[in-house]
Amino acid sequence: MAIDQRITGKTALIGLIGNPVQHSYSPQLHNSLSLLLGIDAIYIPMKIEKVNLADAVKGIKACGFLGFNVTMPYKEEILKYVDDCSEEVKLSGCANTVTNRSGRLHASNTDALGFVRSFEKQAGVGFNGKNVLIIGAGGAAASLALIIASEGAAEVNIVNRTPEKAEIVAGLVNKRYSGKAFAYGMNLLEEVSLLERNDIIINATPVGMHPKTGVSPIDKDVVFSPGQLVCDLIYNPAETELMKQAKSYGCKVFNGLGMLFYQGIYSYETWMERKIPDDIAEKLYGEFVDYVCR
Ligand code: NAP
Repeated sequence: MAIDQRITGKTALIGLIGNPVQHSYSPQLHNSLSLLLGIDAIYIPMKIEKVNLADAVKGIKACGFLGFNVTMPYKEEILKYVDDCSEEVKLSGCANTVTNRSGRLHASNTDALGFVRSFEKQAGVGFNGKNVLIIGAGGAAASLALIIASEGAAEVNIVNRTPEKAEIVAGLVNKRYSGKAFAYGMNLLEEVSLLERNDIIINATPVGMHPKTGVSPIDKDVVFSPGQLVCDLIYNPAETELMKQAKSYGCKVFNGLGMLFYQGIYSYETWMERKIPDDIAEKLYGEFVDYVCR
């Protein structure tokens, strides 16, 4: 049969905007979800130049897209072009999901939810009562700091190259969860034994990401404790320098692939207004990891 019938006038449109987008795994993830669930939808990656962002969003809305993901560098900029947003987005200032609700664009962020689900699945524990160190104070760090505090962490310590940005993120957290968050400059990582005070360490900087691999946000002389859980939001390479460092001290380590997968699951659920059954998500998770790591 030579006639491709997969896309018709009834097919729902979803997609991704960012720049670059050619290395994204989101099209494979979302189109596989539609196939598995029997939903008539197509997910299209769209590389948008910054000067065209406003027109692109207008066009996507005019074309009747159900919604779209937003990736770098537009996770903050996109908020200028939506009609409303979730409380979390208001606080953290960045979004990765936009939903078209009868012509009104609503921004939300599924990154942090995806991170928590992936972390709990892989670590077998949650954040309640834990001291957590987040390295970085950008959009991802801010969303994570807020959700980790909401999950009952004892302390959320934020360490960043630019200490003023760590102060801003700690301030956001303390506005809601008073006295939980503390800010530090990178130079204090060793001086105040910050690393050893924390049960969970998360890298939310791009340090160590492809193509600049082989570097870590933590100095090679810093010592980890075997019980610490170390999570890198980077998934390319699958094992970062930070993960290698921590592994050599016996720590359990994870990369950001699980976060990528589950943020996608939550975005899809938001657009389609339906829950993806756990067994389907888990089946696809295994296949997705195999595909990315092939
Ligand atoms: P962002 O807003 O640009 O923030 C980047 C952060 O990294 C800032 O705190 C910045 O410090 C710090 N940083 C950048 N280069 C550095 C360097 N050379 N040395 C020390 N610190 C440095 O980025 P983001 O959106 O938060 O993303 C952060 C990381 O998370 C990226 O690697 C991204 O790919 C990853 N991520 C992964 C997922 C996933 O699904 N796995 C989802 C979202 C994000 P300054 O404040 O000093 O500039």
